[in-house]
Amino acid sequence: MTKFQHMGLSDNILNAIDRKGYKEPTPIQEKVIPFLLSGKNNVIGQAQTGTGKTAAFGIPLIERLDEKANDVQALVLTPTRELALQVCNEIDSLKGNKRLNLLPVYGGVSIGNQIRALKRRVDLVVGTPGRIIDHLNRGTLDISKIKYLVIDEADEMLDMGFIEDVETILSKTNKEKQILMFSATMPQRIVNLARKYMGNFQTVTTVQENKEDITVKKAKQIYYMISESDKIELLSRLIDIDTNFYGLVFTKTKVQSEEIANELIKKGYEAEALNGDVSQNQRERIMDRFKNKRIKILISTDVAARGIDIDNLKYVINYSLPQNPENYIHRIGRTARAGNEGTAITFVTPSEYRKFMFIKHSSKALIEEAKIPQPKDIVNAKVEKIKDEIKSNLSKDIDPIYEILTEKIIEETDQEPSQIISSILKYFYGGILKEENYNKIKEVKSSSKSKEQRLFVALGSSSKMTPKKLAEFIEKETGVNIKKLKDIQVMDKFSFVTVPSEKAEAIIEIFKQKSKRKRPLVVQAKSKREVRK
Ligand code: AMP
Repeated sequence: MTKFQHMGLSDNILNAIDRKGYKEPTPIQEKVIPFLLSGKNNVIGQAQTGTGKTAAFGIPLIERLDEKANDVQALVLTPTRELALQVCNEIDSLKGNKRLNLLPVYGGVSIGNQIRALKRRVDLVVGTPGRIIDHLNRGTLDISKIKYLVIDEADEMLDMGFIEDVETILSKTNKEKQILMFSATMPQRIVNLARKYMGNFQTVTTVQENKEDITVKKAKQIYYMISESDKIELLSRLIDIDTNFYGLVFTKTKVQSEEIANELIKKGYEAEALNGDVSQNQRERIMDRFKNKRIKILISTDVAARGIDIDNLKYVINYSLPQNPENYIHRIGRTARAGNEGTAITFVTPSEYRKFMFIKHSSKALIEEAKIPQPKDIVNAKVEKIKDEIKSNLSKDIDPIYEILTEKIIEETDQEPSQIISSILKYFYGGILKEENYNKIKEVKSSSKSKEQRLFVALGSSSKMTPKKLAEFIEKETGVNIKKLKDIQVMDKFSFVTVPSEKAEAIIEIFKQKSKRKRPLVVQAKSKREVRK
């Protein structure tokens, strides 16, 4: 019996959990699921992405929603569209054969389709605050009878300026509903929100894990946020920036391992694919060549990589995300062996972010996001390598034939020796020292986390404010460096300023304490939409 089976869940949900491949509940699930199944209390869960928080509220919601109800029974608020969609899909995948209708509702897409969908029976709506308010104003969504309200990633909502919107939404609901709020951090404003709307609530936290895992701590572990179509370019850049690259690249499928190997070979790299289609003979030959470093890059599936035993492998690259935490640890255990240094690199696409965070949490590994190497950095690395190579090959006793050749060139070209050397270098290396050789990589974000916040300041040009004066005023009052204040927009009666997220709370707090006015001088700008107006 697994722990899930002890939680009093229906067979339908247990089957769905089984089909999803979840073996055991995560710590937050272990605490939140029984609690939500049993009582009517409100809950604050302190949990980050990757802890399994979606299923922690999704599973009890599925259990408790009524297939026969006519009204919307539950509303889940998320800060971003991507999250709304992912959360909706995750809950949907847990419903088994229960006949529940879920609908994601977010901005940036046609409202007409959403209005049509909302006319049909919908049990659970997952949406972003702005669009939900839009529907409430149009009268196309009624949340007055909901039994459950989930506020997911509350701290992100705060960062993005959605808290007032959340309050507006709360005001359109009934008093009896159960509120579940999840937040990775608990800034004062979130605690205040909970106090104001949640009455009695239970706080659920899971212990901060110990980031010391003996199995993997030797390898340096990093990840890159990357879109699928840019992975091959990123791989090439990683190979190029370390001129002594020696690594194993993991892919999900055989076909993919071949495609990548072919792609790399086409670009001139010494790469080879190892997969189940390779005969035993070939496998041995490939392995020998890889061990002798005649091939520097081996692209392999998990199955084919079994038994690869190389002590000095410098890199393990997860070109495709590992299936689960065990698979991650197993893969990266191939580097940083026998006292050698090694780096484990994972490519993560935006839609895999939550799954990756789960792997990161469960494997208790310290994996940091890294910046994609830029063409300039790579060319510089190559220049250094060429320089070192040439310097180490300069010898005193040179065959006279080269001296004669050099003299002839100098005589016949009438150029300075430095110019001649440059020309020779260009002739031999020109092809590889070009930044234009690299394709563009699209920047993708790791999460919705906004790094900046827009603040509203109740002072404008009518009180003689200019952007410069406003910045100086904020600096003087709060000590936040003037250089951190951006995009100042001074209107007649008020102004806007963008500040780093980590400073925003402090600025608001300081002004609140200093000011004797009824209304605070500085608050979070209402929402992105409004700021743009
Ligand atoms: P979340 O923290 O809700 O964003 O979930 C992160 C990832 O963990 C998602 O990809 C989930 O599908 C996955 N997940 C959630 N619960 C479990 C579990 N008990 N076992 C394995 N994976 C899980």
